[in-house]
Amino acid sequence: MMKLRLNTSVEIKGSLQDIPAPAAVRIPIQKKHKPVVKKKQIVGRGQVIAENPSKGAYNLGFVHASIDGMVEDILPDAIIIGPIPAPKEGEEAAVPARPAPCAELDTLAGEELCRKLLELGIDTSGLHATRTLIINGLNPEPGVIVSEQLVKDAQVTLKAGIQLIEKALKPGTIKLVVASGKQISLHGCTTVGASDAYPATIDPLVVYAATGAERPDNVDVISVAELYAVGRVAEAKLPLTETVVSIGDKTFVVPVGMAVQDLLSVAGASAGTDKKVALGGPMRGEAIFDLSAGVPKNCSAVTLVEEGLFPPVQPNPCINCGECVLACPARIQPGMLSRFAEFKMFDSARNEHVGACLECGMCTFVCPANRPVLQYILLAKQFLAAQDADVATCRLQD
Ligand code: SF4
Ligand code: SF4
Repeated sequence: MMKLRLNTSVEIKGSLQDIPAPAAVRIPIQKKHKPVVKKKQIVGRGQVIAENPSKGAYNLGFVHASIDGMVEDILPDAIIIGPIPAPKEGEEAAVPARPAPCAELDTLAGEELCRKLLELGIDTSGLHATRTLIINGLNPEPGVIVSEQLVKDAQVTLKAGIQLIEKALKPGTIKLVVASGKQISLHGCTTVGASDAYPATIDPLVVYAATGAERPDNVDVISVAELYAVGRVAEAKLPLTETVVSIGDKTFVVPVGMAVQDLLSVAGASAGTDKKVALGGPMRGEAIFDLSAGVPKNCSAVTLVEEGLFPPVQPNPCINCGECVLACPARIQPGMLSRFAEFKMFDSARNEHVGACLECGMCTFVCPANRPVLQYILLAKQFLAAQDADVATCRLQD
């Protein structure tokens, strides 16, 4: 097995650092988003550039320009904004229109407030009116330090986030889950100690640690980074245009869509030719090959992995050793599920509870055959989700 320290809690030494706005950004959008700008349009920071057409309160948030600039291109997965061109002789300079602060945040509550947060860029898809709100204060993965950094440096913003979330969800109890033994508290929360050894830090296992129940009703969970995003919106009353990203032992507030290569350069880190780059942590992150990719809104880390540190994951045959079964916190059979996906037996994967996978990546981590176990499982989940969506559409059309 590869050597990686799986404990996630660390002693935070540095401070949260702001990164100045870059000249250009490539802002990722999802399939669901509908662009509402045109090429060559001048946009102001905070202006909506892609909406989620869903009318509900609990869904993916709208997307906003993170810099003043001109829309250079609209791609299926990103909107590119570059500098505003200099005016031609005799013409006046274009003035980007930034949105005014949203006064409604003071008056709205419940579902209406959740809808407004969605329009201001917050992903509300995991929220609803709830009896217990759990704040996951554990660092999400080994080497990703955002949660503990924010708890150390952003108490005021986190308090603003809690106050707004209280108005939106009206929870009876708020619990903050932190690494056992850490003296950490947040405004209005009951602190609960839990294991910081990955994968105990992922949301469903944190919920179990805080409530003693698996998948309980009436419980919502939000990470500290998500709470911080709500807090930034609450403080400025403006749309969310930034995310918090850790790189090694440093943490930055980064304009959404900033090119990964620009971020690495400002952070004093270099990918060089001997490192792989992943958006996210070492267990659940996604390797990228194009460093001009923009940092997404939900990105919590950029991870640099030295070439050769890990053996390459390849579609090798499963040797049925059972290591992945022993490591799986969802108590399913990753090896068998990966074989079902490999041979396109997706219905068999469904029958063997592929949907229960927590996407922690432990199966891939322990697999001695270096199979892309999680990637196969994700393939099955995506295929089945698309199949379900098709069936739902057919029923609506009947
Ligand atoms: S990613 Fe693998 S180990 Fe983790 S829950 Fe899913 S099947 Fe189990
Ligand atoms: S750890 Fe790898 S080789 Fe072993 S059963 Fe699981 S998928 Fe197969």
